Amino acid sequence: MSRYDKMKYRRCGNSGVLLPAISLGLWHNFGTDAPYSNCREMLLGSFDLGITHFDLANNYGPLPGSAEETFGRVLAADLKHHRDELFISSKAGYDMWDGPHGEWGSKKHMISSLDQSLKRMGLDYVDLFYHHRPDPDTPLDETIDALEQALRSGKALYVGISNYNPDQTKAMLEACKRRGVRLLIHQMNYSMFQRSAEDTISVLGDVGSIAYCPLAQGLLTDRYLKGIPDDSRAGTKGTYLQKDNITEDRLAKISALNEIAKARGQSLAQMALVWVLQKVDSALIGASRFSQIEENVKALDHVEFSAEELAAIGKVL
Ligand code: NDP
Repeated sequence: MSRYDKMKYRRCGNSGVLLPAISLGLWHNFGTDAPYSNCREMLLGSFDLGITHFDLANNYGPLPGSAEETFGRVLAADLKHHRDELFISSKAGYDMWDGPHGEWGSKKHMISSLDQSLKRMGLDYVDLFYHHRPDPDTPLDETIDALEQALRSGKALYVGISNYNPDQTKAMLEACKRRGVRLLIHQMNYSMFQRSAEDTISVLGDVGSIAYCPLAQGLLTDRYLKGIPDDSRAGTKGTYLQKDNITEDRLAKISALNEIAKARGQSLAQMALVWVLQKVDSALIGASRFSQIEENVKALDHVEFSAEELAAIGKVL
């Protein structure tokens, strides 16, 4: 079976872009501390499952920038003949270098960051360039200048935003429309445990959507049902998922959701992914090993929910 028969592709908003229903992000487990062989296995294995969209950002690592370097290394060694099949994104906006323009949404930050990202990945262009977070101090028009320049210069084929709340999203969409700049997509934190993004989705109109942390960084899996493994994200120091995020109340919800998933013949991770796909175009997962990606892609074998299942999930949440 070809990789393209194994995946479902979904239109991103009303654009010509077709995203895999499951995309892979390189926020964790692709930095300098990650074994290269595991990174390579996850990337090539994902591509063989039809995952064509890989999501990066300037600062992913650790060290910041190293995930882009790892990705560039695999791309050069193994995937260079497949460049046109891949949809590669990067972002600028979080702190990346010292001094006044090392973060946020100035044109100076955004364009310099994009140039650095292209160099680290060994690319002439990214498919998608995001403003990673709203900037309260830079005029929106300047950030749009930067996105527009990325498009006009050919360094990005499409542009998007991330982490803008509904009001910020509306303001950005209006300003982009006035300027004739087309936003492809909004990338937002969305999962059964993080539902505030539904308000953002409701203002998107024709703009596409992709859910990051759809597994709530691993909480919406069976990973923590029997304690906190040392090799898990919550068991690792310096991550954004800490042991004290795993409360008794959380665990009770995870166990209850796990039972609902079992009854529909899925793992909790699989059910959590198809649940977000009811509202977004793609679910942007992370992984620490290829077997997780394999399991997650199998979620697409069963995407429908009965009214009873949705009610049971709603009750738990
Ligand atoms: P997820 O919610 O998918 O969490 C991924 C983690 O869940 C894995 O590292 C693994 O944890 C665990 N996991 C995944 N599959 C399974 C499975 N089948 N069984 C058991 N455990 C599983 O997403 P991430 O938090 O990793 O974020 C995904 C991507 O979203 C990022 O790489 C990035 O591209 C993007 N992102 C964007 C942000 C933004 O501001 N725009 C912010 C954050 C993320 P373990 O390591 O413990 O094995």
